[in-house]
Amino acid sequence: MCGIFAYIGNDTSAPQLAIEGLKKLEYRGYDSWGIAFQADGGLVRERKVGKISDVTTDDYNAKSSVVIAHTRWATHGGVTAANTHPHYNADGSIAVVHNGIIENYEMLKEMLQQKGYKFTSQTDTEVVVHLIDYVMVQQQLEFAAAATEAFKQLTGRYAVVALHKDSDHIVAARQGSPLIIGTSNEGFFIASDVPAFLEHTRMVQYIDDGEVVVLNREGVVCTDLATGELRPKRTIEITWQQETAEKGEYDHFMMKEIMDQKVSIARAANQDPDEVAIIAMAIAKANDTFLVGCGTAEKACRAAEYFFSVVASHHVNAVPASEFTIYHHL
Ligand code: GLU
Repeated sequence: MCGIFAYIGNDTSAPQLAIEGLKKLEYRGYDSWGIAFQADGGLVRERKVGKISDVTTDDYNAKSSVVIAHTRWATHGGVTAANTHPHYNADGSIAVVHNGIIENYEMLKEMLQQKGYKFTSQTDTEVVVHLIDYVMVQQQLEFAAAATEAFKQLTGRYAVVALHKDSDHIVAARQGSPLIIGTSNEGFFIASDVPAFLEHTRMVQYIDDGEVVVLNREGVVCTDLATGELRPKRTIEITWQQETAEKGEYDHFMMKEIMDQKVSIARAANQDPDEVAIIAMAIAKANDTFLVGCGTAEKACRAAEYFFSVVASHHVNAVPASEFTIYHHL
């Protein structure tokens, strides 16, 4: 895990919004952080190894109303300033942040190197920014269309956000890593988790896997990445409080999560009965049901396996996600 934050709107303190937003995503873990924003007809970038908690927003009072930002948890390449996001194309006109892993990056990197693109980091992410550049030049597409075309060529698990120095659009896509939109009268946010912008808006839209989103100052358009079909989004109001997402009186998030369980389990179970009925019917009719997850989600699957057998007298299978491919042919 790690974090993404982006904003486009009327508020000209976007760099400060981004610093505050990244701080709210610290609980996800990270080793370095960075931001890029539009200013004076170009992009300005800041990248740092280490903690963002020591930074004050006063250091980021440059005027800008378009920003993307990232906390990195290194998977490809060491924890260095050069590997920290946002990554730039050669002339610094495009910036990209990314969570997750681009599985086909070696193939894309080789293709781009053959076309003369120079890489300045060891990350998988850097292919994305050069690929957008390449598509813009090759296919003569404007930024948002080129970013969408580039995202189509990525395989793996990712959340990715791109910004161009001259464009009024931020473009983002999701495949396996979370991305949530926040909408307000002052502008539009996109982040890995709601607390990043909860101070500014409670109205959210959830992006699904395989979707691409184009944000500008007027609104958000979400489409299916593969087919280009429009995917209209429901706007949902967040009803929980910011404190729920902060450490509060506890020294560690883990301690808080343990102590919160009596409330969080009850809240998680409090779902729309119609939706629950649909899932229950599907499970009742299925030949076999698998509960799949990694880490703590896998532990939740194990607990659910137990409850299904004891409470519902129905057998389901809990499987770690890393092992699930071997069941695909069933
Ligand atoms: N794979 C990318 C990198 O190593 C992104 C890591 C992340 O999710 O922060 O830079």
